[in-house]
Amino acid sequence: MNDLDVLVVGGGPAGLSTAIETSKSGLSVVVVDEGVSSGGQLVKQTHKFFGNESFFASVRGMEIAQKLIEELTAFKNAQLLSESSVMAVYSDGVPVLNMRKDSTTVFRPKKIVLATGASEKFLQFENNDLPGVYGAGAVQTLMNQYGIIPGKSVLMIGSGNIGLIVAYQLMQAGVEVRAIIEASSEVGGYQVHADKVKRLGIPIELRQTILKAIGEESVRGAVVSDLDERWRPIAGTEREFAVDTICVAVGLSPSIELAAQAGCKIEYIQELGGYVPSRDEDMRTSVPDVYVAGDVSGIEEATTAMMEGKIAGLSIIKDLTGNCDEELLRSLKDTLTTFRSGPKSSRTRDGLGRLGIRVKESSFAKRQASDFDKYAGKLRPIIECLEAIPCNPCETSCPFGAITVGKNVNNIPVIDYLKCSGCGICATSCPGLAIFMFKENEDGTCSIGIPYEFL
Ligand SMILES: Cc1cc2nc3c(=O)[nH]c(=O)nc-3n(C[C@H](O)[C@H](O)[C@H](O)COP(=O)(O)OP(=O)(O)OC[C@H]3O[C@@H](n4cnc5c(N)ncnc54)[C@H](O)[C@@H]3O)c2cc1C
Ligand code: SF4
Ligand code: SF4
Repeated sequence: MNDLDVLVVGGGPAGLSTAIETSKSGLSVVVVDEGVSSGGQLVKQTHKFFGNESFFASVRGMEIAQKLIEELTAFKNAQLLSESSVMAVYSDGVPVLNMRKDSTTVFRPKKIVLATGASEKFLQFENNDLPGVYGAGAVQTLMNQYGIIPGKSVLMIGSGNIGLIVAYQLMQAGVEVRAIIEASSEVGGYQVHADKVKRLGIPIELRQTILKAIGEESVRGAVVSDLDERWRPIAGTEREFAVDTICVAVGLSPSIELAAQAGCKIEYIQELGGYVPSRDEDMRTSVPDVYVAGDVSGIEEATTAMMEGKIAGLSIIKDLTGNCDEELLRSLKDTLTTFRSGPKSSRTRDGLGRLGIRVKESSFAKRQASDFDKYAGKLRPIIECLEAIPCNPCETSCPFGAITVGKNVNNIPVIDYLKCSGCGICATSCPGLAIFMFKENEDGTCSIGIPYEFL
């Protein structure tokens, strides 16, 4: 039996953030992660992140993982066990299997944090078990962790952020993405991500679904059809795509197995991704000494996972020692509330409401620059980011203070062209690749610089 203060299950952004916070206060902490390299989903995310500066906005996911791991391993009281799996949570001990050494250690922690993340949802269609049908997360792992492309031509199913981002990454890896198919009547992910893939010529087809994969030994094609208003395929609208890969990106389900086994109360909340452990706003579950953080408690993003991880850490410090940095706790909760207050988080707000956690919707400033034409002939940026999303590196990167997002990170950015020098730094910092440099030429033509991330 190894006695310790805090055992964290899962070394993704949520688990690492809890571990960093609790390590700072001198508690003994062990993080257990199944991955070959810790970092959870972050290790395969080659794109720059949205969010604000304190949560690594404009930094690539895989670099965020590295920074968090470096910060954690600098603490002598913290230990990170990779390639290890927590098999169960019992009241008298937590067995951890080291998969490399094939040996088991039992820990007896005072507090346990379950930050086990999520797994991919799948779709039913004919032949969906053919080799060549992948989940989008699996494709990201293959390409970005192991350097292997899944095929030469892909049909992406689902236009949420994951489908859009993985489609872009497939193109970066030299794979042709024939189309993105979406059952809903609108794109699920951020508009800036959708625009990014549309600029590469990838069509996003709305109100359509996949009916079957074609092939005997592996995928040779896919049949899709239009959907009616009740989401039923419309006969006679079927058509075929000649592709060797079908990539399914239709959402994630919280990985609640350990929470359920530990006896935590579980509820079905569709808006949060399905079954989730009940918890309060301080991340305490219904079982004393068991906490949750990140995607396991509701599917969101790495930024919110980090905030929840820190909140769980501070709650543990408070529960173990009687006090914690209350000001930091309050400010983290305020930041989290602001992040979730925009229109893109309405489902999360509804889901949290059903858990008894109220998050207010906030109004956000929708301003437009009016002085663009006054500076004709000057090199200047155009921001094509007109949807309220929680993001502001454009504001923080501008050395001249010419871009304002403001206190609410969901505000639409606005430029003061009088202050702008035309340096272009904002265009290289924007994770949505949504800032273009523009100049009218003397011969009446215009030059436009479009950011894109290809060699
Ligand atoms: C393709 C894709 C693109 C994304 N892009 C973005 C983006 O641009 N911006 C953004 O903010 N978010 C993005 N996300 C979402 C973000 O990655 C997740 O919200 C975030 O990683 C959740 O963090 P987490 O720590 O809760 O879980 P995870 O990152 O999933 O980490 C959970 C960890 O727990 C480990 N684990 C699970 N069970 C056990 C066990 N029993 N024992 C030991 N270890 C265990 C897993 O191996 C994993 O390492 C993306 C997600 C995907 C799939
Ligand atoms: S081009 Fe330079 S000065 Fe102008 S808004 Fe962007 S970062 Fe600021
Ligand atoms: S323009 Fe600003 S707010 Fe919009 S995606 Fe780019 S950095 Fe984020």
